[in-house]
Amino acid sequence: MSDKKFFRCNVCNDVHYGFFPPEICSTCKVKDAYVEIEEKEAVSVMGL
Ligand SMILES: [Zn+2]
Repeated sequence: MSDKKFFRCNVCNDVHYGFFPPEICSTCKVKDAYVEIEEKEAVSVMGL
C-alpha cells in the first residue's frame, strides 16, 4: 500500500530510497539529516 520515498541528506547529499529516512546518515554520520525530496530531485542529485 505505502509507497517508498526519496530522502536526501542535507549535509552530504546522499540519497536514500525507502519508507523512512535513515536515523543516521551512513556517509557523513549526521543524525536526522535526511529530508524528503521528490523523485525528479533525486534523479537530478544522482546525476542520472
Ligand atoms: Zn550525510
